[in-house]
Amino acid sequence: MSDPRRAVPALGRLLDRPAVVEAITEHGRDPVVTALRAALDQVRRTASAGGRIEDEDALIASVLAAVEARPALQLTPVINATGVLLHTNLGRAPLSPEAVAALTTAAGTVDLEVDLGTGERGGRDAPIRDPLTRLTGAEAAFAVNNGAAALVLALTALAGDGGVAVSRGELVEIGGSFRIPDIVRSAGTQLVEVGTTNRTHAHDYRAAVEAGASAILRVHPSNFRMDGFVHRPTTAELVEVARAADVPFIDDLGSGLLRAHAAAPDEPVVAERIAAGASVVVFSGDKLLGGPQAGIIAGEAELVERCRRAPLARALRLDKLRMAALAATLSAYERDAAGGLPVWSMAETDVTTLRTRAEAIADAIADASVDPDVEVVALQAVLGGGSTPGATLPSAGVALTGPADRLARRLRTGRPAVVPRIVDDRVVLDLRAVPPEADGQLIEAVRAAIATLGTTAGPDTA
Ligand SMILES: *Cc1c(COP(=O)(O)O)cnc(C)c1O
Repeated sequence: MSDPRRAVPALGRLLDRPAVVEAITEHGRDPVVTALRAALDQVRRTASAGGRIEDEDALIASVLAAVEARPALQLTPVINATGVLLHTNLGRAPLSPEAVAALTTAAGTVDLEVDLGTGERGGRDAPIRDPLTRLTGAEAAFAVNNGAAALVLALTALAGDGGVAVSRGELVEIGGSFRIPDIVRSAGTQLVEVGTTNRTHAHDYRAAVEAGASAILRVHPSNFRMDGFVHRPTTAELVEVARAADVPFIDDLGSGLLRAHAAAPDEPVVAERIAAGASVVVFSGDKLLGGPQAGIIAGEAELVERCRRAPLARALRLDKLRMAALAATLSAYERDAAGGLPVWSMAETDVTTLRTRAEAIADAIADASVDPDVEVVALQAVLGGGSTPGATLPSAGVALTGPADRLARRLRTGRPAVVPRIVDDRVVLDLRAVPPEADGQLIEAVRAAIATLGTTAGPDTA
């Protein structure tokens, strides 16, 4: 009887097969050879055990599918067709061209901590310090890694031994395991719960600080809404309680709205909270502010300085790339040009414009295929990123009839990747978060995804 392992194809021969040569051109030699070796090892084991060996074509097809499906080594550009403008899993706010240019400049050697006039060491956050104080009306401001870091730092530096008073209605999870009770604990301070889940009054906070709590924290309900028999003190009431007891009032605003906007009716405006007397506010850089990931602390000079000097500040500090992108983003607000920031131009686009684009896209897709069917649909988009929960923006897009899960997968694994929504078993492409200049790419991506649906070589058909 002949040795069954003789039937195992030789690596050298497989490497000459046209499909493999093509895959090496596309993905590089290493990943293809590694995947082939692993597959051949497996075949040898199967053969030794007397199992049936796949034919060579099937073997190559499954190896190439594995190479295709391997996780990307770099971040892949995505067309966000979800209708969620600030999608945390897709990197939240896209940056403006000015912010991207600033970031590119900062990639080289820059005057991050040197005053070029004197040659002396300068402050690291010089490019953002003044714009932030001007835009928020705060005495002082600085920025760290993200909103969560800003909150931890503020609590560490400002909540003393007496712990921090937080309403039971605000002991929330913001997402990604960010839970207020855990954050308070990890900041090395104590949680002093006040009030009840649905109703907390000014006198609850007053009782807590009179009993020794050394700070008050309010957390904006970013991603949920509470209706019915509910009560929360006004900002003025909290300010009064904090001032009477001489403790800092830390206001976690979440999104960091720098100017009031009709699309975000429930979001606190930073300058209004500062003017109303919050001791410090913290907010994110990449939510409605429209900049890079960052967390900003703004407020009374003495308190902000305590945050800046805290040892933890060094561990949470902002890098030069995001410092540059944040400065460029803030400059759009200072020039009264924030409407041009991607997040705001997406939010402000007229729905009839979206509908016209949807019609053109539907025509172009229908042109290329009979199946699946394409239909222009009215949609509701959301700001996302924990902003104005429940509020929607009228939107438009196209719905594709067909095998929704498979088509969505093909769209996600195409290049550029397209992340759609699935509604009632149909793939839906919402245009509100798609920049108009990406429409051409979107059409191509959808055509390509539909074209490959009928084939069997893809990784999802195994
Ligand atoms: C989003 C959010 C945070 C966390 O900010 P990140 O920038 O995501 O770290 C904290 N608090 C509130 C109220 C938020 O909405």
